[in-house]
Amino acid sequence: MSILKVARLGHPVLRQVTETVTSQKLQSQSVQQFIDDMIATMKEYDGVGLAADQVHESMQIAVLEVASNPRYPNKPDVPLTVLVNPKVTPLTEEMEEDWEGCLSVPDLRGRVPRYKSIRVEAWDRSGKSIDFVANDFHARVIQHEFDHLNGKVYLDRMRDLSTLTFLTEYVRYWMR
Ligand SMILES: [Zn+2]
Repeated sequence: MSILKVARLGHPVLRQVTETVTSQKLQSQSVQQFIDDMIATMKEYDGVGLAADQVHESMQIAVLEVASNPRYPNKPDVPLTVLVNPKVTPLTEEMEEDWEGCLSVPDLRGRVPRYKSIRVEAWDRSGKSIDFVANDFHARVIQHEFDHLNGKVYLDRMRDLSTLTFLTEYVRYWMR
């Protein structure tokens, strides 16, 4: 397994809409290896999610996992999930604002409104259909990764930039 280089804000790959993955391509050894590398990279940098374009591959693949994460303490666990060609549908108009960070926007945090409840339809890494409802922080992580696959970063979703905060100042003034 390899730790992949993470693209930072400004790299054009982060602003492209990623390409749909065909079932044949998904089954290939290179894409399966790539998914393993994405998971290893997410864990290495204590991310709770990672989208393929964040590691320079314009494909509709995202991975997520929340398990006693030092960057996001006190958040509920989310099992390791691979989402291929995901579709996200809000199940409520209700949005909630909370802090987000991003491996492609290092050292910053900001408050981002997200839908509290969403339906997620996707393939898993073997190409099997998955369909589930995600709420709260789980829904937030998926919306963040889904945005990456569509060329967006969390800064685009902030109502304004007044809460944009360096991590050190976040810990000092804002962490609850
Ligand atoms: Zn991100």
